[in-house]
This record gives sequence, structure tokens and C-alpha cells, in this order.
Amino acid sequence: MAKKKRGQPLKSCPECDAQCHARLATCKKCGFVFYKKKKKFIEDWKEELKPGDHVRVVGRSGTYYIKESGEKVYFTNPGVYLVKHIRDDGIVAIGTGRICHGYEFLYMGKEKQSSMLDSMYNSPHKLIGVSLKRKGES
Ligand SMILES: [Zn+2]
Repeated sequence: MAKKKRGQPLKSCPECDAQCHARLATCKKCGFVFYKKKKKFIEDWKEELKPGDHVRVVGRSGTYYIKESGEKVYFTNPGVYLVKHIRDDGIVAIGTGRICHGYEFLYMGKEKQSSMLDSMYNSPHKLIGVSLKRKGES
């Protein structure tokens, strides 16, 4: 039943020569790893991060408040941030994207009710490490 698509992007495995779809991370035949998927959240942020690193803030993470309808509204825009300072309870960072720019405090402590507002909660951000390659570097 499946229609055979023409012109699929393919790459050949250097180990077994199998034709694999270009987006596959591992060879379907022999398991050769083309590239490692980088989707692991940063856990030990105090150890792993230092000023000058870039991190991606995942959407729907971090400090939020709960509307009367029960909907959660998150304060931090998802996107890539440049780490400026590491503090005891979070990270001072600068947004580098179009929707996230300017200084932002990325709270990383335990989830707790905010001291400012009953319906607001401080919640740790989910971060993914980013290595940005500059132009001209290989
Ligand atoms: Zn292979």
C-alpha cells in the first residue's frame, strides 16, 4: 500500500554501505552511529555550565503562574541564551534570539510557590546545551 517516494534523501553507511535515510542518526542495518542526538537536558548545571556557554531553554519550563482557568502561563521565552553568571539558585543569561533578548534570570532551584504571588510558582528551567559554531570554523 505504501507509495514509494521518489528522490528521498539518502546517505550510505561507511561501515556496511546500506542506503539510509539522511535523517537517521544510526544505520538501520548495522547500527553505525552517524551522529549523536543531543537532546539530553542539563542536569548538573552548576558543574556543566560556565559564563560564555550557550543553552537552549525548552518551552513550557521555568517560572509560571496559574490563571483562573487553570492554564499555566510561562514567563521565559524558549530560545538560546548566553550564560553570564552562575548563581546559587539559577543562571543570569542574555537571550540571543528574536523573541528572547535582554537579561533573563533562569531559575534552577526547586519548584516552590513564589513569595510575590500565590498563583505564581518558581520552577526550574529545562536546559539543553548548545554549541554554536562560528562562521569559518569547521
Ligand atoms: Zn551500516
